[in-house]
Amino acid sequence: MSDLERVIADIIRSEGPLSIARFMALALHHPELGYYTRGDPLGPHGDFVTAPELSQAFGEVIRAWFAQAWLDLGRPAPFRLVELGPGRGTLLADALRATRTVAGFHDGMRLHLVESSERLRATQAARLAGFDPTWHARLDEVPSGPLLLIANEFFDALPVHQLVATTGGWVERCVDLDAEGRLAFRPGEHPSPLGADLPPAPAGTMTEVSPARSALAEAIGRRIARDGGVALIIDYGAWAEGPTGDTLQATRRHAPCDPLDAPGTADLTTHVDFHALAGAAASGGASVYGPVPQGTFLTTLGIHLRTAKLMERATAEQQRALRAALFRLTDASAMGELFKVLALAAPDAPAPPGFARPTLRPC
Ligand code: SAH
Repeated sequence: MSDLERVIADIIRSEGPLSIARFMALALHHPELGYYTRGDPLGPHGDFVTAPELSQAFGEVIRAWFAQAWLDLGRPAPFRLVELGPGRGTLLADALRATRTVAGFHDGMRLHLVESSERLRATQAARLAGFDPTWHARLDEVPSGPLLLIANEFFDALPVHQLVATTGGWVERCVDLDAEGRLAFRPGEHPSPLGADLPPAPAGTMTEVSPARSALAEAIGRRIARDGGVALIIDYGAWAEGPTGDTLQATRRHAPCDPLDAPGTADLTTHVDFHALAGAAASGGASVYGPVPQGTFLTTLGIHLRTAKLMERATAEQQRALRAALFRLTDASAMGELFKVLALAAPDAPAPPGFARPTLRPC
């Protein structure tokens, strides 16, 4: 039993079963024992690898996107470059290395990082020392102004509630204690207010709803509509118009594991419901573009060319790694199809680079 499992068991004994959202928040962010509080999930001995950690070419594509988006917005200065959950700071380190060649970009840029982990903030400070970042616990702490925002594998870590259909309506799936005092899933006894607007479904159907994700998408949409700017949201998930099913997954040392086993020692995520995210952003006032598969987005923005350029100066071993990363990022059998890219822009602004027409307009 992990230390955090004992803490969670005590909370359940005194307060009753926990929603999956509360369980996720404790497992990831408990002030001493949470997964993100304790260590660096992306480090050399980490649990999972993200796109910017796979290949420098990813950050360079994002650099091109930032630069073109900023030019298309009419070179606003100053502007807020915001990353939600920058991890080890790799994406921005790769992207900002080359934006110096875009006249005026660095003079106008104010860098803001939204990060909950003190440890990762320290890593980010070391990687991004030359760019004078300011850290925030939440997006709403970032001062107003035109926005260039990126969130790669951030939304998947925000808590979701899981609902189970019963003949009496949607009940919340909870984490409770079994007869031996171990953590166990159990459906709630009463219909949940979170299921009030959901159409009925056959008993046993599961779906996920995330007020936290929707509130953030709506807040980004509102800011972009008010101050101008664009946002790029990249994550794994689907456009779910019906029930999402159960997508809760735990990852330890690059392998799936039981989400209830030793909480705080494994990453815990669910797939992102892009339909819900898009609707929330549009209700905040933004135009929504995509989602498009990551493979399509990266190919449109020239990742093959960028990889070829990096290969020119690489050793044979580096070339192999670059080729493998390109495949992993773009191929449908790897991250190319499961990962999606959603963009947001102000209703009167041009389409963000890599996108043509909005999927949704503000509502
Ligand atoms: N974007 C990075 C890291 C993804 S991991 C990459 O692609 O490599 C998720 C990141 O979000 C980590 O930096 C984690 O500490 C941060 N994070 C997770 N939940 C958060 C929250 N609620 N508030 C702020 N940061 C959070």
